[in-house]
Amino acid sequence: MRPAAVTKQKKPARSPKSDVSVNTDSKLSNQFERRCSIASTVGILSDAWAFLVIREAFFGAKRFEEYRSGLEISRATLTDRLRRLTQEQILRQVSYSDTSSRVEYKLTKSGIDLYPAFMALMQFGDRWLDPTQGPLQLIHEDCNCVSKPVVACSCCQKKISARDVTYLEGPGAGVVRGEAVTRRTRRTADDFMRGRPSSVSRALEVIGDRWSFLIIREALFGAARFDQFQNELKIASNILTDRLARLVERGVFRKRKYQSAPERFEYLLTAMGADLHGPLMMMMAWGDRWRANGEPPMLLRHAACGQIFTPTVICDRCGKPIHAYTMKYRMRYDPDKFGGRKSSRAVPGRV
Ligand SMILES: [Zn+2]
Ligand SMILES: [Zn+2]
Repeated sequence: MRPAAVTKQKKPARSPKSDVSVNTDSKLSNQFERRCSIASTVGILSDAWAFLVIREAFFGAKRFEEYRSGLEISRATLTDRLRRLTQEQILRQVSYSDTSSRVEYKLTKSGIDLYPAFMALMQFGDRWLDPTQGPLQLIHEDCNCVSKPVVACSCCQKKISARDVTYLEGPGAGVVRGEAVTRRTRRTADDFMRGRPSSVSRALEVIGDRWSFLIIREALFGAARFDQFQNELKIASNILTDRLARLVERGVFRKRKYQSAPERFEYLLTAMGADLHGPLMMMMAWGDRWRANGEPPMLLRHAACGQIFTPTVICDRCGKPIHAYTMKYRMRYDPDKFGGRKSSRAVPGRV
């Protein structure tokens, strides 16, 4: 059942049509879509290059050449992503000597706070996409154990899944103008796999682009049929057809015929697809903290404890929340082949 609270939407202040003349830039940017904090995080992570730059920052990269050597990225592309991520306050520039005008790029607080979402994506990738259980082994310093972090309820600390969460309108609910689908990025699925082996990359590669993220989100909210996705996302038919086919191929959805004449299918999340719930909830939590001006568009209720909660990534061994500062890792690959940084900490030193 589709939760009624989520489908109820406030009307936009102005009709979409009256706005068309304002924006001649892109046809797609004239659409309105559900206000949702997942979308704002997806805007950052669905660009493969931006994601890879953030990942290298978690591995200790600071200087231009350090980012470059890990990723084999062109200077122009790297310059562009460093600038954008600085504008978005994921990275900040720090001069590294009084005599030089050169700068380092370090993660900001909001950048470091992407770590739990990365952890959730990594665990998903380890579970479903990596036969070797993942290129990194995580060690939680609080309990000194090998840890497989899980997405949990902030109230009862129990693991959450798609089935035991319901969605309610939050103070920031409504619709917003859809972001222009970025024109500067070509299809980037393969780019996610650049550089070091990474289960986060594998997860993002399977999910794909921004539209695919949003289709999966709608499926988690209960959409299954073509027109349900289309009504909610205002997505062009050919793009929706393409993304659904791709998500079926990648094992996120399975198709089920629900009508014979004419033939119609619905798209149901597989067990793997439903397991994307955790990462998406963590992306929502990040967007709520850093992009929602204190007014989350959606509230989550945990069926097990009945409370409105914040999704949190906790250690499966000791149950404490995971932070970048309290995790170490062992690499199951040779870091020399991928730019040579061997730091065993997620965020080396204070930033
Ligand atoms: Zn709970
Ligand atoms: Zn622990």
